[in-house]
Amino acid sequence: MKIQEADAKSLLLAQGLPVPPWEVAHTATAARAAAERFLAVGADQVVIKAQVLVGGRGKAGGVKIARSADQAEVAARSILELEIKGMPVRKVLVGPAADIVKEFYLSAVLDRARRRIILVGSAEGGVEIEQIAVDRPDAIVTIEADPLLGLLPFQARQMAFRLGLGAHLKDAVAIATGLVRTMQAYDADLVEINPLAIVNETDPDGQVSQRLQCLDAKVTLDDSALSRHPGLEELRDPDEEDPADREAREAGLTFIKLDGTIGCMVNGAGLAMTTMDLVKRAGGEPANFLDIGGGARAEKVAAAMRLILADPKVNAILVNIFGGITRGDEVARGLIAAREQQERDVPMVVRIVGTNAEEAAVLLREARFETAATLDEAAERAVAASRSAVA
Ligand code: GDP
Ligand code: MN
Repeated sequence: MKIQEADAKSLLLAQGLPVPPWEVAHTATAARAAAERFLAVGADQVVIKAQVLVGGRGKAGGVKIARSADQAEVAARSILELEIKGMPVRKVLVGPAADIVKEFYLSAVLDRARRRIILVGSAEGGVEIEQIAVDRPDAIVTIEADPLLGLLPFQARQMAFRLGLGAHLKDAVAIATGLVRTMQAYDADLVEINPLAIVNETDPDGQVSQRLQCLDAKVTLDDSALSRHPGLEELRDPDEEDPADREAREAGLTFIKLDGTIGCMVNGAGLAMTTMDLVKRAGGEPANFLDIGGGARAEKVAAAMRLILADPKVNAILVNIFGGITRGDEVARGLIAAREQQERDVPMVVRIVGTNAEEAAVLLREARFETAATLDEAAERAVAASRSAVA
């Protein structure tokens, strides 16, 4: 689950990381009022930032600096009219603008292959890290955190020195270890600060000093671990969720979209993976992973069918049900109802065994569904149907 910058900053703040203050505004007038408050307490300028769950807001015109409340209102209005990478901007973050000396990149990311958290840093911040990785891979520093102990102080110091942050060692070490701690505290997949910046700070006597601040924050949480953190579910932004993901979540389905052409509807995660393997072995490409779960009723089956057919690449569907708690006849009724509503006519091969398989077979035969007795046969016929749809 992706969360908004403002929410990600709250998590960093809770872990003691240096984040400048902010307010979230849904209208240009509210942004103006927020800007007035920051300007009244000593900010020379304010920054207005689109709150959308995509990167590259700066380049898209979604980050603006304003010197007055008037300018802030104008900036907020223009940002609230934007659509960034297809996402309409519904709210903005307003905060005092930092006086940036230099930008860095620092993130903690879960490396599943190495089964540990990796700290990734670059002195070329501000730019997207994917771009740095392509243009100048040497400019990226990676350090593996200890799976049990987290990022050790010497490792954090190593990162600081390699990024040229020796003059800010104490802050840099606190931030680096704080990132890894944030990962562990919330079961995050990614905690990214881009830019982490050296900023000038002027005290009331006019003395300028420099310090590090987290000016942007991106946190991705592990959906499967959300049940361990009851408070985090509130950070889900339903406006920004992919429509297919939302429908799946609301229907209680486990759905992961893939790139192939054969839609798969299966009960049980293990059987769903086996089904995908067999589709591949038969020479096809699955369009999705979909587990309708145990005991699925007709409505759930219909929701699953809508999800599968919402993908325009799907040109054949394979239904594989092993009835245990799930009753075959219930699934068959769901399929029949779903086909009546469906706008697209896509060939479907159905294999239902186990509880009430006979009742299911009768229903499907009456409704003229194509059925298969074995999974191998079902996979082969679905692949053949997909091929002839292309031909
Ligand atoms: P992103 O483009 O979506 O990653 O949004 P960021 O929050 O990272 O902002 C993009 C760029 O805007 C940063 O790399 C900075 O150069 C600039 N920026 C962001 N916040 C401030 C700020 O407080 N002061 C100044 N001067 N520039 C900022
Ligand atoms: Mn950024």
